[in-house]
Amino acid sequence: MTTVDLPLLPLGRGTDLSAERGVECPGDLPAASDPELVARALAAKAALGDRVFVLGHHYQRDEVIQFADVTGDSFKLARDAAARPEAEYIVFCGVHFMAESADILTGPDQQVVLPDLAAGCSMADMARLRQVEDAWDAMTEAGVAGSVVPITYMNSSADIKAFCGRNGGAVCTSSNAEVALEWAFGQVPDAKVFFLPDQHLGRNTAVLKMGLTLDDCVVWDPHRPNGGLTVEQLRDAKMILWKGHCSVHGRFSPEVVDDLRATIPGVQILVHPECTHEVVLKADLVGSTEFIIKTIEAAPAGSSWAIGTELNLVKRLAAAHPDKRITFLDKTVCYCSTMNRIDLPHFVWAMESLVNGTVVNRIEVDPQTEHFASIALQRMLDLPGKSHKD
Ligand code: SF4
Repeated sequence: MTTVDLPLLPLGRGTDLSAERGVECPGDLPAASDPELVARALAAKAALGDRVFVLGHHYQRDEVIQFADVTGDSFKLARDAAARPEAEYIVFCGVHFMAESADILTGPDQQVVLPDLAAGCSMADMARLRQVEDAWDAMTEAGVAGSVVPITYMNSSADIKAFCGRNGGAVCTSSNAEVALEWAFGQVPDAKVFFLPDQHLGRNTAVLKMGLTLDDCVVWDPHRPNGGLTVEQLRDAKMILWKGHCSVHGRFSPEVVDDLRATIPGVQILVHPECTHEVVLKADLVGSTEFIIKTIEAAPAGSSWAIGTELNLVKRLAAAHPDKRITFLDKTVCYCSTMNRIDLPHFVWAMESLVNGTVVNRIEVDPQTEHFASIALQRMLDLPGKSHKD
């Protein structure tokens, strides 16, 4: 059966708390022009002391990340939160699926707060549970579901992680996607992987790391009958890729790579595996956010880099390494608009509310979803070898 999904809600309007999409964020926010915002944030943080632990994703604005107790990628931050059981409140400066993961990995008495509920993730939003279950039904009807192992990228909603946990699958990050695919292909004879929700990470890992061909990969389009695939295509495929992508990393183009190589002598192209296969093929180095940061930190003075990842991070890297020439791999400004929803007024509002004894914007995963999502996360933690950073 194929269902038509609802159109995306405009950011900041409407209510759909079960989704990653934008929802309204009611609250008596301070004015963005208030010159006391920084002082108010500092005062609230001091008043809460060890009761609060503030997490800041690498893609967050400078105005917010200055208040983070730790910075990192989504999985590192969730684990950092789990390692602070004494913190009553976890204020997650990131997006909705990250706060869900933090809630899953922290104790029942810890409350996770997302300062703006409209901070979703367009990629995570591209895979809704009902759509994924329809695809699974089609695979069952085609007689292939028994050999399909679902793997979801960390950047997915908790109910998609739970779907994978219920159906013998696991979660992966951009650092361990290769190990996760190796594990999945070893689970059943003639295994196929159903990879959610980022087709680019799935394709780049399968083709460039696992030695599969592009012909081994098919794309399931949730907006077309039967995913736009024939039964034969489903039976022949080794990778069934969900038609999802990151709206930030999907913008980088092979043409800009060519332009930069022509204009910056010796430039090295460093991109995230959420970029398209065409861009990744033209890059010198491909890796997770943490890999990108470590590569720039280790780069020699005078070296030139064009980086294909979110702009807040690229700007911070450029500022921290003035001895290296660091360029953004796009001609236009390209922030993650949902990450940028977390601004100083929302942060101050969330923190001052906690000081006043009110928990606003709590992100809480229901127990059944948490149970199965934890199974998928644990399978990832049990993978051998490589780190689990994204
Ligand atoms: S950068 Fe892409 S994957 Fe990350 S939160 Fe933004 S839209 Fe989602």
